[in-house]
Amino acid sequence: MATQYKNLINGKMIDTGEWLDVVNPANEEVIGQVPASGESQLNEAVAAARTAFESWKKTSFEERQAVCMAISGAIKENADELYRLLTSEQGKPHEQAKGEIFGAAGMSAAQATLKLDDVVNEDSDQRLSRTRRVPVGVVGGIVPWNFPVMMAVQKIVPALMSGCTIVLKPSPFTPLTTLRIAELIADKVPAGTVNIITGEDSLGPLITGHPDINKITFTGSTATGKKIMEGASADLKRITLELGGNDASIVMPDADPQKVAEQLFWSSFSNAGQICVAAKRIYIHEDIYDELSAALVEYAKTVTVGDGSQQGTGVGPIQNKKQYERVLELIEDAKDNGYKFLVGGDADPSGTGYYVPITIMDNPPEDARIVAEEQFGPVMPLMKFSTEDEVIKRANDSEYGLAGAVWTADTDKGVEIAEQLETGTVWINEYLHLSPFSPFGGHKQSGFGAEYGLDGLKEFTYPQVITVKKDSVVA
Ligand code: NAD
Repeated sequence: MATQYKNLINGKMIDTGEWLDVVNPANEEVIGQVPASGESQLNEAVAAARTAFESWKKTSFEERQAVCMAISGAIKENADELYRLLTSEQGKPHEQAKGEIFGAAGMSAAQATLKLDDVVNEDSDQRLSRTRRVPVGVVGGIVPWNFPVMMAVQKIVPALMSGCTIVLKPSPFTPLTTLRIAELIADKVPAGTVNIITGEDSLGPLITGHPDINKITFTGSTATGKKIMEGASADLKRITLELGGNDASIVMPDADPQKVAEQLFWSSFSNAGQICVAAKRIYIHEDIYDELSAALVEYAKTVTVGDGSQQGTGVGPIQNKKQYERVLELIEDAKDNGYKFLVGGDADPSGTGYYVPITIMDNPPEDARIVAEEQFGPVMPLMKFSTEDEVIKRANDSEYGLAGAVWTADTDKGVEIAEQLETGTVWINEYLHLSPFSPFGGHKQSGFGAEYGLDGLKEFTYPQVITVKKDSVVA
């Protein structure tokens, strides 16, 4: 029988008696079961979080930091078990799963150093006015399936550091590692401060609409983000939305095709392309287009697609059947329209496991679905450009605005281009680097607000201004 995992509510591991199956995308076998939670489990978790909030909000920075460091430590100490479990439910190769687990431990520790000090607004003969940050209360955290552990801790840790308590819902596709972490931290976090409950997508709107939750922090698709914004409007819950993207990478003519090819490849194909900030459109200057596309194809041939638990796998399966079918549909659409493939494009949907071969496309038009939509799979469209103005316009012609990259030997030029891109993050000559100290968030329909850094932490708080009249005549 598949291992059964439990919810963490009020410091205890509890099941519901009803279960959801979790499938390994590499072989479609059921590898675990998690509670199918509904309204009553949610109410229990929110009540526990509300009670815990009354004492947690009064804790010192040091007390909060100690708890977050204990979470970080528990993840690190059990990394070996956790990364294997993560690969089995998410599909990413072991090396990348290790990166996520150690990254989550590191991010937790780093975010546990962030502190929001009071700010003095006025210190005059008449008055002393200062702004302090007060926690919003109980937070509802909703997480996707592409980086389930990283996304969970990047909601739990800042919630705790700001003095909030949290009820977190993992994706029903990837809840196992998060529930295992819940078990590992159950006796390390004060009861009720961190609650983790699993359920179908239908549990999401119950969280968004819950009258005793004060803020939603969500990572997932833009479509769901819009529903959350709508649901949160009933009682004006605070919201942070980290949503989809269609990031453009721009490769300038002075970039060395041989040197840039490998990095460019992984900017698109890490985690089988299922990264919000993966390079999803690659614009290459016409002078180096042929050489760079050939180098990318050569490199692609050295990378193995397969079961992430097997040594040597570079690209794992797509995480779930629905997404797998969507990626296949985009490939079919490209075929139907006669777009050219440099490599790949020949998936076999009848096989076991959700595998899509590494696919690189040769200069499809801007309105091709594979270019205009977020593909979230191992399919990379390469596009040729001639001038800087043209490529900036094409890169910005998107409803999304998450991140982007410029590859050039002239970093001043890279910055000049970056400043014209309509995205929350731009990398020059690197990719996917997220710092716990820099705000990360999307422009346009890629998000609302930010995570990470002091900006991210502030989103779990209200500003409160206290003004003392110094020359008062009251007494
Ligand atoms: P999704 O929106 O389908 O689901 C995300 C979470 O929302 C899941 O836990 C799901 O159960 C829950 N949910 C579903 N319907 C809901 C509703 N009506 N109300 C409340 N919650 C609901 O997203 P996904 O398919 O799991 O993830 C892929 C998407 O996430 C991609 O678009 C990707 O770009 C985006 N993403 C963004 C970031 C970022 O930081 N900007 C990071 C990772 C992934």
